[in-house]
This record gives sequence, structure tokens and C-alpha cells, in this order.
Amino acid sequence: MKIIKTDDERYMFYCEGCKRNHAFNNAWQFNDDFDKPTVSPSLKVTMPYKGVDYICHSFIRNGEIQYLNDCHHELAAKVVPLKDEKDWDADF
Ligand SMILES: [Zn+2]
Repeated sequence: MKIIKTDDERYMFYCEGCKRNHAFNNAWQFNDDFDKPTVSPSLKVTMPYKGVDYICHSFIRNGEIQYLNDCHHELAAKVVPLKDEKDWDADF
């Protein structure tokens, strides 16, 4: 499974760019395929980091995560397969 459902009714996936999990709720459209997920619209995560907003912005399509140009991590503008839950190395 590339996406899991949490106890509080959210969905969680592992982000290789941020090396941590991100979550979204049912305000997003999810095709309910936990192995080949497609989620829309795009997912934008912002976190304050050293006085600026760190951005992670992506689309999830067909089990792949497509990072947009405005990401602040090294995978910006790249497409990578989502990691299977058993290979996640974050527990938050
Ligand atoms: Zn991220």
C-alpha cells in the first residue's frame, strides 16, 4: 500500500522529498486505490523553516508523485514512484 488511512479518517503517504509523511483529508479526491493512488487537486505542504516557508508541492497520479517546481527539496520537478508502506522510514 502506498497510501494508508489513519484512525482520524485522513490519508497518509511517504514523501521522499521531505523524508516524512504527509496527510490529506477527504477534501481531496482520491480514487480509493491504495496501490495506484491518484489524488487531486495538488497537495501543497508548507512548514516554517528557519524563518521562511518551506514548500513541498506535488501531484499524486497512478502511484507516482510528481513534484512541482516550487518544491524546496531536491526532488523538485521530478517524478518518483510512491514508496510502499513497508519501506517508509518515518514514523510521523
Ligand atoms: Zn514533501
